Amino acid sequence: MVRLFSSFFRRTADPGIRAAELGAPEPAAGGGERQACPFAAQRERMVREQILQRGIRDPRVLEAMRKVPRHLFVPPELQDRAYRDCPLPIGYGQTISQPYIVAFMTEAARLTPESVVLEIGTGSGYQAAILAELARQVYSLERLSPLAARAQQTLAALGYRNVEVRQGDGYQGWPEHAPYDAILVTAAPPTLPMLLLDQLAVGGRLVVPVGESQGSQSLLILHKTPEGVVQKGAFPVQFVPMV
Ligand code: SAH
Repeated sequence: MVRLFSSFFRRTADPGIRAAELGAPEPAAGGGERQACPFAAQRERMVREQILQRGIRDPRVLEAMRKVPRHLFVPPELQDRAYRDCPLPIGYGQTISQPYIVAFMTEAARLTPESVVLEIGTGSGYQAAILAELARQVYSLERLSPLAARAQQTLAALGYRNVEVRQGDGYQGWPEHAPYDAILVTAAPPTLPMLLLDQLAVGGRLVVPVGESQGSQSLLILHKTPEGVVQKGAFPVQFVPMV
């Protein structure tokens, strides 16, 4: 089984992403413009070698992973590593998840263009951008206000209008917009947060890494059915803790 790493970097440097670096729009995929952007080629390779090869098949997920400029969600001095097969530090001891795990969790959520999604742990905003490509509306909660503010700025600069980021405690969820068609948790709580399950619509999926230590976490995929909650899968993972 492929082991999923969300975070083996946990550092505190916070170089930040400045608005100016987001100013230049990414060229549209395809055509001659593509060659002009070195990141587009790296992104295509990332999708082929890290995502497709490991079995992600949902065409909408693959398209979103091909489209979202991941390098704009990492600190400027790490941009040339943005498409590597690993998580990267984003400051405040947090990380942007490995591309494969973002794709895996997104596919597991089974989104439709009508879905309303809750993300816990905005971090860089990258996972939120991928979700925003696939769903009608994304709500994302982040505990650390500087990260929430920066992610909001990054997402706005890229033109995402269907993502709302708020500073808040993920354990409480975001009851105002519940129920959600999917909830993705990108930090690991020690046990399953029942309040989040309450905010999930019947028919919806909760994707959450659960476990005390970084060595013993399982990524759970839970499907809420009229008859009760059904567990669809559990995979070994490493996420930063949900605090
Ligand atoms: N999804 C992010 C990666 C998240 S890293 C991305 O795409 O970049 C996990 C994030 O969860 C961190 O930013 C951390 O601050 C946040 N977090 C941890 N505990 C939390 C809590 N109780 N509520 C909300 N966010 C939390």
